[in-house]
This record gives sequence, structure tokens and C-alpha cells, in this order.
Amino acid sequence: MRIFNFSAGPAVLPTTVLEQVRDELLDWRGRGMGIMEMSHRGKDFSGVIAEAEADLRELMGIPANYKVLFLQGGATQQFAQIPMNLLAGRSADYIVTGAWSKKAYKEAQPFGAVRLAGSTEADAFTRLPRADELKLDPQAAYLHICTNETIHGVEMFDVPEAPAGVPLVADMSSHILSRPMDVSRYGLIYAGAQKNIGPAGLVIVIVREDLLGKASAITPGVMNYAVMAEHGSMLNTPPTFGIYLAGLIFKDLKAQGGLAAVEQSNIAKASKLYDAIAASGGFYRNPVELSARSRMNVPFTLANPALDADFLAEAAELRLSGLKGHKSVGGMRASIYNAMSLEGVDALVALMQDFAARKG
Ligand code: PMP
Repeated sequence: MRIFNFSAGPAVLPTTVLEQVRDELLDWRGRGMGIMEMSHRGKDFSGVIAEAEADLRELMGIPANYKVLFLQGGATQQFAQIPMNLLAGRSADYIVTGAWSKKAYKEAQPFGAVRLAGSTEADAFTRLPRADELKLDPQAAYLHICTNETIHGVEMFDVPEAPAGVPLVADMSSHILSRPMDVSRYGLIYAGAQKNIGPAGLVIVIVREDLLGKASAITPGVMNYAVMAEHGSMLNTPPTFGIYLAGLIFKDLKAQGGLAAVEQSNIAKASKLYDAIAASGGFYRNPVELSARSRMNVPFTLANPALDADFLAEAAELRLSGLKGHKSVGGMRASIYNAMSLEGVDALVALMQDFAARKG
């Protein structure tokens, strides 16, 4: 019996998809071997990666003038790879809205001029900056944002307007595929796989073609978007198993009715959790401004932190796991990605209500 896994990532994957993976592990479509054992240059794997890309394009409505890259090194590697590929001797703007965009900003600094265009750190990352607080450079090579801060539970529903001609670069690691996004608003989107896409080890980059070919001369081939695009993400051996699993996830999301349907389910789950926090009379608290509360990562603290350990112990007994908050924020965090069921959220809400009634 599977637990309810509220981990921030690697995170829960749909049981039906894992069952299919299990069934195909030793023998994929009668080939007498599994995907992990196949050449990435063969016809079978070429079909797998092409289908994964086509399904992702359909799900997200990715325009034809964007490349989809299946890369390695996680989102953290992208923090460096983005300036290597896009800075081109210019300056880039970063908006810092939580721990992850702060890391991206720091990692970019060795590669050239990087400006802090806005930050909510003084407010402990509990809100998003207002447009009038941003100091945007109209000449910037790009404007970097993180559209969902996994640790602080801050999600952008209104994406900042970049100055004309400045490409918007977004880390969507922890909410990609959770709802429809207008890809055409971005120059580049990237996301590590281990939340809504599949297994760790794969990172997806969606990049507008006119941004290719600007990489600094020392950029290694495997880190050069133009080179990787030219080779269909296969300059070297790609993370084949991760791409295969991601492809199955894309099919599963399509079968659910696509991202508009997925969004409705995510709204329902997040609302239940935030409503339970609001109805607790201060027993539980989420510090984030209403308009910026993440539908994927819901941090909350107990008014009395001495009760944290009891809460986690009771959760474990009910097979609710991964709820301990990030050490920088404390308390709890429920990550409720696409694959978390409403049943799992209901079980958590029931525990929260029962616990508060007994201990409050
Ligand atoms: N960005 C965000 C928003 C994340 O949540 C994470 C991982 N939790 C990362 C970047 C870093 O990803 P990785 O560990 O795959 O490098």
C-alpha cells in the first residue's frame, strides 16, 4: 500500500504510470529488453523521445519557433548554463522572490554583469514585488524569474512584464504542467523533472530559437543550447529512462483532459488546504499573501512549534509523509503536485482538524 507522499521533490508520481513502467521494465513492447538497456540512437528510443516532445508541445501549446531540450544536471546546472548561453557580454536582471531565485542570481554572478531588479527578501519572501518596485534594465540580455518558489510557497499568477525586447527566463521547476502557461511570453522556460515531470536527472529547457547561438566561447557542447538543439538533445547519451518516464507522464496528463483539467484539480486540492489553515483560528498559519499562495507547495507553521514533532508523528502513523518544512522556514510544508490525490489532501486536512481540536 502506497503512502501519501507530500515531499517537495523527488515527489509522488502517478501509481498507474509506475505500474506501466514496472510492466515494461524488462521487456518494452516485446523487444526482450527494457528502455534503460536500449541504444539511444536506435529506432525505438528515437520514437520515445520524439513522442515525448510532441506530447509536451501539445500539452503546453509550445509554438513552433521554440526548441524543446531534454538535458541533465538539474535546474541548478541551468542557473549557470543560462548566463553562459544568453548573457553574451551584456547584463542580466534577476528578480529574487525566494530561496531558488536567490540561488539562480548568485550562480549567475561569475559569468558577467548581473543586476538585482527586485527582491522581497526584506519581507521574508512572503509576497511578490509590485510592478512599481522593480528596477528593470531595458537593455538587459534577459530577465530571470522563478514562477513558483518551492521553499517559500510563493507562486506568480501575474508574471512581471519584461521591457520590450528583453526575454523573460523562468524557472518553473515546481509548477510546470500544473496549469496552462502562455509559453509565448517567455524566451526560455526550464524545469527539473522531479516534481511534475518524472524522475530526477532530467531537466527540460524550452527556448525560443532566436536566443540560440549567443553562448560564450568557452561553453562546453553539452551545455550549449544551440549545439544540443542541433543534435536533438543527443550530442551525448541523454537520460533515456527519465525521458521515457516523462513521456508516460505527458500521456497521462493528456488523458486527464490536458492542463486546463489538471488546473481545476490543483485548485480544488490547494483550496482545501488553505481553507483548513484559515479555519484553524490561528492554530496553523501560512505567512504568504493571498494572491501569491502556491498551489503546489503549501508551507504552514503551528502556532506552538513545540507541537511540531507530535504532528509529524501522528502524520506518519496515518501514512502521510514528507511534511516536515524546509529548515529555513520551519514548521510544515505540504507539496501537492499533480500526482497528489484529493484523497491525500483530504487525509491531511482531517489530521489537521483533529489535531487542532485536541491540542488547541
Ligand atoms: N529551482 C526550483 C524552483 C526548485 O524547486 C529546485 C529543487 N527543489 C531547483 C531549482 C533545483 O533543482 P535541482 O536539485 O534539480 O538542481
